[in-house]
Amino acid sequence: MSSETTNPDDMAPAAGPEVPRCGNCLFYVPTDVQAGECHAGPPGVVGVPTSQGLAFGGTFPRVSPDTWCGEFEAKDHGEKH
Ligand code: SF4
Repeated sequence: MSSETTNPDDMAPAAGPEVPRCGNCLFYVPTDVQAGECHAGPPGVVGVPTSQGLAFGGTFPRVSPDTWCGEFEAKDHGEKH
């Protein structure tokens, strides 16, 4: 049996604009309440089946506001307060 204790503050959800999450990121463009696009890079080319074959177009990666990646940059990065 472990004798470790858990600090309730360590279990609190992270908050604030500096918390790495897509919803706080400079590159996040919301498309609806549940999701958005990541504009950290150029759109990728995707093929969509049509009745005449494949149609190709560009699209940005669709991401959830609650996920994140190593390219995260806070929206207010570089702004003076
Ligand atoms: S995937 Fe990364 S770069 Fe793109 S919006 Fe989310 S945290 Fe930002």
